[in-house]
Amino acid sequence: MDFTLDRAMTEDELRAHLDSALTPALLMLTAHVTGDAGVLRTEWKPNRATLPASGLAPETDAEIRAFCLKRLAPYLSSQRDWAALPDDSLRESMCTWLMDENIEDAQALAAVAFTPDDSDPRGPEWNLDEIAPDSGLSAVVIGAGFSGLLAGLRLKQAGVPFTILEKSTNVGGTWYENSYPDCRTDVRSHIYTYSFVPHDWVTHFGRQQAIHEYLYNFAAKNGLLEHISFGTEVTATRWDESTSTWTIDTRTSDGVVGSAEAQIVVSAVGQLNRPMIPAVDGLDTFTGPVMHSAQWDHSIDFAGKRVVVIGTGASALQFAPAVAKEAEHVTIFQRSAPWLRSTPVLRQEIDPGERRLLTNLKHYRAYYRFSIFLPRLIGNLPAATVDPDFPPTEVSVSAANEALRVELTDYLTEQAGDRLDLLEQIMPDYPPAAKRIICDDGTWVATLKRDNVRLVSQAVQRIDKDGVWIGDEHVPADIILFGTGFKASEFLVPMTVTGIGGQDLHQTWGIDASAYLGITLPGYPNFFCMYGPNTNTVIHGNLVFFLECQAAYIISAVQMLAKGGHRSMALRPDVFTEYTDEVTKESAKRTWGWSKTHSWYQNAAGRSTIMWPLPARQYFERTSAVHGEDYHIH
Ligand code: NAP
Repeated sequence: MDFTLDRAMTEDELRAHLDSALTPALLMLTAHVTGDAGVLRTEWKPNRATLPASGLAPETDAEIRAFCLKRLAPYLSSQRDWAALPDDSLRESMCTWLMDENIEDAQALAAVAFTPDDSDPRGPEWNLDEIAPDSGLSAVVIGAGFSGLLAGLRLKQAGVPFTILEKSTNVGGTWYENSYPDCRTDVRSHIYTYSFVPHDWVTHFGRQQAIHEYLYNFAAKNGLLEHISFGTEVTATRWDESTSTWTIDTRTSDGVVGSAEAQIVVSAVGQLNRPMIPAVDGLDTFTGPVMHSAQWDHSIDFAGKRVVVIGTGASALQFAPAVAKEAEHVTIFQRSAPWLRSTPVLRQEIDPGERRLLTNLKHYRAYYRFSIFLPRLIGNLPAATVDPDFPPTEVSVSAANEALRVELTDYLTEQAGDRLDLLEQIMPDYPPAAKRIICDDGTWVATLKRDNVRLVSQAVQRIDKDGVWIGDEHVPADIILFGTGFKASEFLVPMTVTGIGGQDLHQTWGIDASAYLGITLPGYPNFFCMYGPNTNTVIHGNLVFFLECQAAYIISAVQMLAKGGHRSMALRPDVFTEYTDEVTKESAKRTWGWSKTHSWYQNAAGRSTIMWPLPARQYFERTSAVHGEDYHIH
């Protein structure tokens, strides 16, 4: 469904839906409309842990709602004329009121974190026809997922001819491929959305089908579908120095090979699309169905079946509870226990009154989003930072990390209740934030407590034709499900990328993928990555925001090429080396780089090629302008 705001909620309507209003958003909206920062009273300051809800006593929330209704009422008839943005000083007051610490970072990010409807401040303000009509520039984007569609839109807005090559038969990337039961995001829907394309989300955390529909509609509405060549996999790309052109070799799903040419290549192939199935002894002898979470076969009926689940990461914690409701028995193999964060609304729908406010009261959605997004961008990096004086251990790595460990331990303890045997099994033995902390509404431990579920705290060692072995015990199984994640560190595999002088990207990288800001690298001119190395986030930042930063950087680079009449730009090796050294050094200070626990955040050499280790503000600022001096430009 397209999002449309009639922006004319009357006083009666607001009164009718007032109980659904979340007071942090309502108060900031009231400050915006009345211009009175004084309404952001200290005693009404929200609790950061409960945002977008205030975390205040119900009677205080009721008092705030009544206060806001009274203050807003005289202005409601003129909603269409409300200013688009708060002034700088009011925005500053909002940041200070919302955030307890990192005020400077919050102020720096606040302008991009407040996203009123119909505003797209980071779209290109130039057009190829105007700045370089004879440039002949064109682009190929590889992948039509969250990042490739965004790149396509930006190129379209800038008037750069482009094609998107997509190996699947539909858009959405991982949100098309992963269709396992109960698949959903663990990031709140309103911030798992392009900042300039709001949506009337039904659930707090978007379900896979809803996210896929959102992306499809985005592509359709923006005229991107006609630029996509579906069922077309890129097998190789080669840079030709004499013509400053990339040749892109393709193969269709029917095996037809082809090729395309473009000056610019944007690789938007994602990180989580090559399933990892461990080489377990005897797996090939198993006679029943074997399925990875990303390759779900919906024709399989679990009723009356004995199922084995291998892995307890984000995917398994979603599909295993659903499977356990249908299967006769489920045995879950857990190599490492996940840390869980209490998220009561994880599977809940957004209250209908709240949705009315989000769609019909001007700016309410923007402040609702702001109240989630800004704290999330800032996140809690100190809680993932190693303090050498602490001293760091595999229990916790700093005082802030220890505080987080205590909070998460309390949650697991509460979940286990009197099942102390289970508590011992579900308690992680590594510091929080060494890998993804998984959102939970109580479903996981409730599943483990079911009579038909058994948790085995070890990796599976041996499989035979009709079951798995736990030491000397044979556990019969009809179906094996792998929730074992993806080959995330193998960036851009399996296509080959050949740059200047015939150098091969995978040989250049070895197992240590790196790219400047996750986007460019020396020797591969005009080749841009989205969601490239070290651009993932765990405890701070936001994936979609980072994609928007990458798209803005790439489109500015294209502008620089076009405006200057240049043919190519290749990152300077010294810029690359300095950046890679910095990221390696900073990653080692974070739990995910420091901890020895298993994680897809580290590659086989123990280096983190996945996560962004610095504050989100730095990613935003470093990607906001392309510095020509960082590149060899021809
Ligand atoms: P994952 O987080 O990498 O989890 C893989 C699981 O399989 C872990 O429990 C891992 O154990 C286990 N495993 C891996 N290799 C194994 C082996 N050889 N033997 C036994 N166990 C093994 O994968 P995922 O759950 O598919 O999630 C990947 C990422 O996708 C997530 O981190 C998240 O970013 C994203 N995702 C998000 C959502 C969401 O938004 N809710 C849902 C799904 C996925 P160890 O922990 O010991 O390595």
